Amino acid sequence: MKNININMVDLMGQYSKIKNEIDRNIISSIESGRFVNGPIVKEFSENLSDYLNVKNVIPCANGTDALQISFMALDLKKGDEIICPSWTYIATAEAAAILGLKVVFCDVDLETFNTRADLIEPHINKRTKAIVPVHLYGQSCDMAPIIKLAKKHDLKIIEDNAQAIGCKYAFPNGDIKFTGTLGHIGTTSFYPSKNLGCYGDGGAIFTNDDFLAEKLRMIVNHGEKTKYHHEIVGCNSRLDSIQAEILNIKLKYLEEYNSNRKIMAKNYNLAFNEIDLIKTPKVNLNSDHVYHQYTIRVLNGKRDKLKEYLSKNGIPSMIYYPIPIHKQKPYRNNEILKNTDLLSYEVISLPIHTELENSNQDYIIEIIKQFFDEKN
Ligand SMILES: *Cc1c(COP(=O)(O)O)cnc(C)c1O
Repeated sequence: MKNININMVDLMGQYSKIKNEIDRNIISSIESGRFVNGPIVKEFSENLSDYLNVKNVIPCANGTDALQISFMALDLKKGDEIICPSWTYIATAEAAAILGLKVVFCDVDLETFNTRADLIEPHINKRTKAIVPVHLYGQSCDMAPIIKLAKKHDLKIIEDNAQAIGCKYAFPNGDIKFTGTLGHIGTTSFYPSKNLGCYGDGGAIFTNDDFLAEKLRMIVNHGEKTKYHHEIVGCNSRLDSIQAEILNIKLKYLEEYNSNRKIMAKNYNLAFNEIDLIKTPKVNLNSDHVYHQYTIRVLNGKRDKLKEYLSKNGIPSMIYYPIPIHKQKPYRNNEILKNTDLLSYEVISLPIHTELENSNQDYIIEIIKQFFDEKN
C-alpha cells in the first residue's frame, strides 16, 4: 500500500493556511472581554446577510436550534404536522419532534437525493402547517414547484440549508437566489465540517420577513426584546464571539472553498461515468451544487464491498445515511418510502474537501476503477 493519508475532511490543513489571521482575531476577541454576542457577531451577521442577499441573519448556537427556533417563531403547536424528507440528518426531524409536532416523512428523488413537490403533496392534510425541504449534500431542491405547492395549501417553508451554504437556485423567471433565502425561513449550521464551519458549534437563521426576524431574535435570547422583559417563551441559543471571528474570516474564502469542491466533483464524475455500476449525482439544470458531500450510488448490492475495499486501501468513506429517519426508533412508522429505502443500501460518500490533493484524488479514482475491474 502507498504511503497515503486521506481524510474525509481536513480541517487542520485548512486552518494552517489561515492560521495567522484566525489566531490574531481569536486573541483580540478574548482581550476585548466580549465573549458572547460581541460586536463581531453583529459584523459577521451583516457580512453573511450581504453575501446571501437576505434581509435578516439571526445567529444562534447550532443548526438544530436554528430549526427548532424557526418552528417556534411560526407558532407551530403540539399536533401540528410538518413534512420533511426521511433522507436527511436526524436534526431536521428532531427539532420538530421535541416541540411535539408530528413529523410526516416524504420520499426523495433517486438521482438528486432531494425531495420534490410531487413527493410532498400526497402527505398534505388539514393539520399540515409547514414543509421542510432539505438541500441535501449541497444541492438545492427544485424550489419553484415546492413554493407553488406551499402557496396552494397556505403552508410555511423552512429550508434546512445546513449542507448547502453558498448554493444558488434559478427560478423559471430567471431570478437567481441563494438556498436558505427562498422560503419563509432558512436555517444553517456552522458545525466544523460544514462548508462554512467554525471551531465549535454555531448556526444561523435567515429570513426576508422583518416581523418573523424580530420574533426569531427574541426567541434566541429568552424571549426578550429589552433586557429582563420577556414577551414570549424563548431559549438560550447564541453564537459566541470567538466562533463569529472564525466565521467572519472563513466567509471570505467560502466561494473559493466551494469552487474547489466543484472541481473535485467534476474529476470524480468524469472518471465514474465510465463505470456502469456507479451512478454519479445528478445536478438539476436550475441548481448549483456546492458538494458538502460527494455521494454516489453503487448498484447491484456492491456498496458494502466497495466500502471495505476502499478501507483496505487506506481510503475513508461514509454512508450518509445508514438508517433513514422513518426507520429510527423514536420516529418509526409503517410508511414505505421506496427511494429512501433503496438509497440506504446504495449510497457512499467519498472524500471531498478543500485540501484534497490531486494525487490523492487520482489514487481514490484508481482504487475504485480497480475494484470494478476485478469483478468484485
Ligand atoms: C448538520 C445538520 C443539521 C444540524 O446542525 P448542527 O449544527 O449539528 O445542530 C441539520 N440538518 C442537516 C441536514 C445537517 O446536515
